[in-house]
Amino acid sequence: MQIIEEKKITLGFSSAEDGDLSFYLMPDDQISQVWKNIPQIKSLSLKEPAFVQQVHRDEILNLQTAGSFLRGTADAVYTRLLDQPVGVFSADCLPLIIFSEKACAAVHAGWRGTLLDIAGKTVMKFVANGCPADSLKAFIGPCIGQCCLEMGEEVFEEFQAYDQSYSDFFQKREKWHLNLRELNRYQLERAGVMPEKILVDSACTFCLEKEFFSFRRQKRRNGSMFSFVVRR
Ligand SMILES: [Zn+2]
Repeated sequence: MQIIEEKKITLGFSSAEDGDLSFYLMPDDQISQVWKNIPQIKSLSLKEPAFVQQVHRDEILNLQTAGSFLRGTADAVYTRLLDQPVGVFSADCLPLIIFSEKACAAVHAGWRGTLLDIAGKTVMKFVANGCPADSLKAFIGPCIGQCCLEMGEEVFEEFQAYDQSYSDFFQKREKWHLNLRELNRYQLERAGVMPEKILVDSACTFCLEKEFFSFRRQKRRNGSMFSFVVRR
């Protein structure tokens, strides 16, 4: 578990060594147990996280009541609550954390969510709630790199039809290769987040076999990483 602390905000990105953190598949008592057994979580004494059933769309849930566990269907969780971790699952998709001094959000951006600009829409959620885009910071966690994210012609065309500028983030090799990280960075900047306030982890979940679960490498669901943020 990689922990990043900034003032009163704590971010966490799990890796394969933390085991499968697919909380959405676990009964409540098991979630508590698994969560509290992660050494970094234990030492920070963080409460159990809230999360959603992810469906590769662009819905953003505004979490207004404290408490853990499954909170419906969405692909981003935004909250102004204190001491309430919110998180997303991934195993190649891009985990994106956005925060300010007043609110925080965890975003699941696979290629479908990215096509729908979930990063930009989450920034707008902050703005609509009184946090200007230039006050936000963002952290793009480990995801599948452009080296390994192969796409068919039809996906490339879908992106191009949605927004002409998106074709800049594809490279043609034998197949099309999408740079998910840079496209999300572009969407954050376009929504007003300042470039110097966006941090990017450049690890590829597909290439780094020992460190990460990868849906595409393993060709099946084999485990999920969990990425979260909490304001304390
Ligand atoms: Zn790779």
